Amino acid sequence: MTPPDTTCAQSERLKADPDFTNSLTQLKNMLSETGYTMVRSGGGYSYSVLSMQGATQNTLDLINVTSPINGFMHNHTSAGEKSLTLTDLAGMYNGLYLRNMMADPASFMLAVVFPNGTIQVLRIADVITYANWANNHLSPSTYAAFLTNFGPNFSPLNSYDQQRLALLNVLKNSGLTLFEADLSNMPAGFTKLELTQDDMTGQNLVVKIKCSN
Ligand SMILES: [Zn+2]
Repeated sequence: MTPPDTTCAQSERLKADPDFTNSLTQLKNMLSETGYTMVRSGGGYSYSVLSMQGATQNTLDLINVTSPINGFMHNHTSAGEKSLTLTDLAGMYNGLYLRNMMADPASFMLAVVFPNGTIQVLRIADVITYANWANNHLSPSTYAAFLTNFGPNFSPLNSYDQQRLALLNVLKNSGLTLFEADLSNMPAGFTKLELTQDDMTGQNLVVKIKCSN
């Protein structure tokens, strides 16, 4: 089945959507971690504040979502992690996907904005691969081992580039695709981020692929 729009097509629409940009700007300026649910409305989305009950720094608590949504956006404060985190991934899976709270997993988006205006957006590019991967890593019975393996690669002390690399390493073969944009330059649009290995050094490098249609 073909998703309603490709990941890049959606990103291109969002860069020109003032409601999307305004909502992210509001979140960017908040001093505590806050989230908005996104529900498709007309050509865009409607946004509602979600009470993340019990949420602490770097914990995405989506239990208060009680009807299916099309996306979720939140902020990380300057004290928080400079990328989407493992707890964000777990929150999205356990709080939304497993509870059937994604109206359409193939077009669902998880967005985060950081105090400097950098935006990351996660999309499920391959729902079947995602469901298998998440079951193996993010379910209540598997998450502890996943945290032990990958958690040490994340730290609020890391640079943004280090955090992004750690996240992209986690997302290998996950069915998830990571996008990035700059809130202060939305017309430039989103870039899709992928990992590649340097032939000479064997090191992982981030490749930025421009979304143009
Ligand atoms: Zn988060």
